[in-house]
Amino acid sequence: MELPDIEESGREMHALATALYPHCRSITGEGVRSTLRRLALDIPIGIHEVPSGTQVFDWTVPEEWNIREAWIKDPLGRMVVNFSNHNLHVVGYSTPVRAKMSLSELKPRLFSLPEQPDLIPYRTSYYQKTWGFCLPHGELERLEDGEYEVCIDSSFKDGSLTYGECLIQGATDEEVLISCHTCHPSLANDNLSGIAVAVALARRLAARPQRLSYRFLFIPGTIGSIMWLALHEAEIRRIKHGLVLTCVGDAGPVTYKKSRHGNAVIDRAIQHVLKTRGGEYRVTEFHPYGYDERQYGSPGIDLPVGCLMRSQHGTFPEYHTSADNLDFIKPEFLADTLGKTLEALEIIEGNARFSNLKPMCEPRLGKYGLYGGGGGQRGGDFDELALLWVLNQSDGENDLLAIADKSGMPFRKIFTAAGALELAGLLKRKLPGD
Ligand code: ZN
Repeated sequence: MELPDIEESGREMHALATALYPHCRSITGEGVRSTLRRLALDIPIGIHEVPSGTQVFDWTVPEEWNIREAWIKDPLGRMVVNFSNHNLHVVGYSTPVRAKMSLSELKPRLFSLPEQPDLIPYRTSYYQKTWGFCLPHGELERLEDGEYEVCIDSSFKDGSLTYGECLIQGATDEEVLISCHTCHPSLANDNLSGIAVAVALARRLAARPQRLSYRFLFIPGTIGSIMWLALHEAEIRRIKHGLVLTCVGDAGPVTYKKSRHGNAVIDRAIQHVLKTRGGEYRVTEFHPYGYDERQYGSPGIDLPVGCLMRSQHGTFPEYHTSADNLDFIKPEFLADTLGKTLEALEIIEGNARFSNLKPMCEPRLGKYGLYGGGGGQRGGDFDELALLWVLNQSDGENDLLAIADKSGMPFRKIFTAAGALELAGLLKRKLPGD
């Protein structure tokens, strides 16, 4: 398969986000299904349904929620709020309502942001049944006294929770989990950017043979990961590395939140990429708040899953408002995230531990065709200094990533040197458990 370059991928990811933006997603319902069906055009995704009422650890899969229309008409019969203009106008999981009421009765049901008077806030009420509307504060303030008519044509039923899963089988069953949430309606950075980068990753990984297998989950936040973990206890133990992708399309520098392990290969690989690429980035310790890394990192599950972001949720003014739109994410930032993630996965693919088979002082490299003529000079495709680092550090414990970090050299150089040394019979690859 011909792969687009990273820049072209950036445009494709933005186009995918644009196509998905209007769908009214929630933790269940038709908006999630239509989103996943769109993804199925690009990647081999399985669309799965888990019935409402299914017990998943301490939680229960909720009733399925769907919405057709919602609006408010003012005393003159003019539509002042209309869900068909923006799906953030309705509080997610609102119960159905059809009523007439005074403005003072209606007001407790209206949510706005006085500090950001032009923006519609994003609100949900999944586990407490209620209804409400969201609108710009400026518009709320202009509403005049009188009788209003409200309509929310929504429904709850014993349906299902819908999620998508895509497994790209590699040479081994050792898995990398890539997880993103699909439960936000028209919000671009906070859910569509993660979906778009995950799809681009899946396409690229599927195009070439891989050592590891890659499992992509497109799930509603919290209940989705809890559901998946509860129903796939056998698969969990195959997952050796993982990433949650969220808020990965804005102009902010990459922020990496470490897995609960803190020093897992995924943590080290991402940090290696961020460090060697240069430029600004942030790394934070694990904390039990944020996205599904909380569930993957709960003590009984304990998977090494970090969270890759650009601007961190809750820290940018567009967060959970109508300003988190398609202008807020840009092709070049999606592409930058994709490139860095691919490089980290390449490191995980190539990482290995070796034992030096000639550990009594340095072997005479010239005998093996590995001597380039002077310290640090290039000999063939490999760097002589990299050869010395690999030989010196390959005691069966240090992996190539650790050697790259210690030497300050990019992983690729260390990896190439190890390949040359292995070919020359100077290194023996250690297997997991060795
Ligand atoms: Zn969110």
